[in-house]
Amino acid sequence: MLNEGENPVYTGPTVKPKYRICLRCSKRIDQTSSLCVLKEGKVKCEYCVKQRKPCDEVPIEFRSEVNRLLTQRERLENEGDVDQSAQLSEALADASRSYVKRVTAAVNQNKKRGFKKQPKGDDIQLAQLNALEKISSSLEGILDVMRYTVRILKFHSFQNNIALVTLRRLSNIV
Ligand SMILES: [Zn+2]
Ligand SMILES: [Zn+2]
Repeated sequence: MLNEGENPVYTGPTVKPKYRICLRCSKRIDQTSSLCVLKEGKVKCEYCVKQRKPCDEVPIEFRSEVNRLLTQRERLENEGDVDQSAQLSEALADASRSYVKRVTAAVNQNKKRGFKKQPKGDDIQLAQLNALEKISSSLEGILDVMRYTVRILKFHSFQNNIALVTLRRLSNIV
């Protein structure tokens, strides 16, 4: 089963994430709060549990970028020099902003294409309605064909009747 936002047409290298960090938390790597890493065996991270929001995976094509952001953050955390860390912090904020913009667009694009985890609630009802609509319009199509066929058959039997009457008349004459 595909994860929300996962791109099945991605053919690039499979990058192992540096930490198990979810999509939501990957968007706030540059923030001063401590890094939220998904614990072993957990399907939802603490932050998403607290926010009561779904915890989704980082799309595969963004994993190496997230790893780079994490490395940038590590470098910043280990930097003792004030000027240096100010520079690193600014660079991380820029990179993060750019990442958030692109990953959000990509996830929305994938959602639009219909690569969703599974439809829930309203989505299921909508899907059922759409299916019913499709069925009824194809039934109408079949009905049209049947009406047309009946018309042709009627026309043919009308012609056959004329032929029969003519034949009978002819046989009477003969
Ligand atoms: Zn998290
Ligand atoms: Zn999460």
